[in-house]
Amino acid sequence: MILLMLDFDGTLAPIRPRPEMAKLSAGALNLLERLGRSPDVILAIISGRKLAELKKLVPVRGIYYAGCHGLEINGPGIKFIHPRARAALPDLKALKKDLKSLKGQLPGALIEDKGFSVAFHFRNMAGRHIAFMNEQISGMQKKYPRLLCQPGRKVYDFRPKVSWDKGRAVKLLLNKLCSKKPFPVYIGDDATDEDAFRALRGIGLTILVENPERGRGRTAAVYRLASPAKVLTFLKSLL
Ligand SMILES: [Mg+2]
Repeated sequence: MILLMLDFDGTLAPIRPRPEMAKLSAGALNLLERLGRSPDVILAIISGRKLAELKKLVPVRGIYYAGCHGLEINGPGIKFIHPRARAALPDLKALKKDLKSLKGQLPGALIEDKGFSVAFHFRNMAGRHIAFMNEQISGMQKKYPRLLCQPGRKVYDFRPKVSWDKGRAVKLLLNKLCSKKPFPVYIGDDATDEDAFRALRGIGLTILVENPERGRGRTAAVYRLASPAKVLTFLKSLL
């Protein structure tokens, strides 16, 4: 029995200019359906995207999904939401309201609701508003101590203060499925997948999907594949 864990963006589907453009090819979907039906394979998709979105992107019956880097995991016999993430939901909801009213005062600002996190984008906002925005955002940080505010590239990302990553999600899945003693295989392309690679060191097969943005840097994965197309070739060989 193999527990086959796959990242989505950059692993199963090529990265596109905007996340909403990413899509599985018909061939890839067919392949995942066949793997999902195989009695020798337990299939799991593990992504930073929210769970509901992931289910739409990979509509395969009877498989496992881990959304928001595993804060939310769903599948046969598992319905998991990290308790501290769940506890932070009322704060997130209130914060979204505050951000919405801030957005109303700042033309060009954009809110991205990611379920267990919310991002405030200001790439298209006029520079003269930045001081006011920063003041408001820092007020919100104080107002919601359960949430962590992470500044990024022209974005503020709020999420629950929970130490959790794809590595912990992988361990949780392995734990839940331990009676089947599956051999873990993990394929991913990004920095967040490194936690999963490390979690599986010495106990599973780990494969990094290379991409030009990241280059041939260091990885905790043992093997490499050159592209999402090569991932499909590999998956076909498993069948
Ligand atoms: Mg990825």
